[in-house]
Amino acid sequence: MKIEHLGIAVNTLSASDDLFSRLLGKKNYKQESVEREGVTTSFYELGESKIELLEARNPESPIAKYLDKKGEGIHHIAFGVEDIDSEIKRLKKEGFQFISEEPKEGADNKIVVFLHPKSTNGVLIELCQEKP
Ligand code: ZN
Repeated sequence: MKIEHLGIAVNTLSASDDLFSRLLGKKNYKQESVEREGVTTSFYELGESKIELLEARNPESPIAKYLDKKGEGIHHIAFGVEDIDSEIKRLKKEGFQFISEEPKEGADNKIVVFLHPKSTNGVLIELCQEKP
């Protein structure tokens, strides 16, 4: 496992893309919308990890709700795993709660699942596995 990426919720992706490309001294390597999640994402490489900027595509998006409640900032931490199904089993046995126990397609060629922040000290944790 490693920290695969940090997800950051932003109000306006174009403005934040400008900010992060100046901050990191490079452009994003990918912009991708995940229609089902109501988000547009933008990815930056940062050594072994990545930064994922998240913009809401509609008011029902979980990102829109997050921004309403908390404003811009770190939204989730994503741990890269080799075998997402066995990690889900292991963590369920350990008593962790998931937002949904069924892994689904995420951005950047990943299969993802989220742990409920209630069971992880208020931090939204994403597990992600490279698509086979
Ligand atoms: Zn993510």
